[in-house]
Amino acid sequence: MQRLRLVGGNKTNCFFITAEQDCLIIDPGYEKDKIIEYVRKNDLVVQGILLTHGHIDHIGAADCFNVPVYLHPADWDILAKNFSGGFAKYDQPNPYELDHLDLHPICDGEVVPCGNRNVEVIHTPGHSPGGVCFKVGDELYTGDTLFYHTVGKWIYTDGDQQQMRESIIRLLETNHERLAVHPAHGRPTTIGEERAHNRFYLTWSSTDELLADDIHDTL
Ligand SMILES: [Zn+2]
Repeated sequence: MQRLRLVGGNKTNCFFITAEQDCLIIDPGYEKDKIIEYVRKNDLVVQGILLTHGHIDHIGAADCFNVPVYLHPADWDILAKNFSGGFAKYDQPNPYELDHLDLHPICDGEVVPCGNRNVEVIHTPGHSPGGVCFKVGDELYTGDTLFYHTVGKWIYTDGDQQQMRESIIRLLETNHERLAVHPAHGRPTTIGEERAHNRFYLTWSSTDELLADDIHDTL
């Protein structure tokens, strides 16, 4: 796995899952030229693009290669809304024509192959209805669902705290503690670290009560 930190309106981590020269790109948010240059320099063959969800800081360079783009269908509306006004809201022009993307639906439990490796899709709604994580080997890519010691916001349109609660509990209680966690923003962590120190998980796993919506300041 390699990480590129892409800078646009936000800083987004873009990851490359590789199997020899085959490669999948996760969350190409910005800086298309930088992504293309990285692929060229490393002589990679891009097989597909994986989107953890449809927010604009994850999709701005999703046309970087003419390959299948995988996104959970529950976030396809969000993707469409970004192109009908979402980018403009943040004073950004649409980065490409939406119908240039070769969109493919992905669902919980589905596997996307990368050479001889399999990437498993885990549906983790809460930050958005179609949010997913991707698991391959000892690595888990969590998008804006799970961050170092915190979680993604659920207050955006179509977000939902109860779903986020269930997604976080599922992620932290069904994966082994040494699994490396790579969020779409900020530093990496592990399942064990988050089980011990993530205050959202610690609250949600010990009480049915929900938290105040303004409790945190992540993305
Ligand atoms: Zn997001």
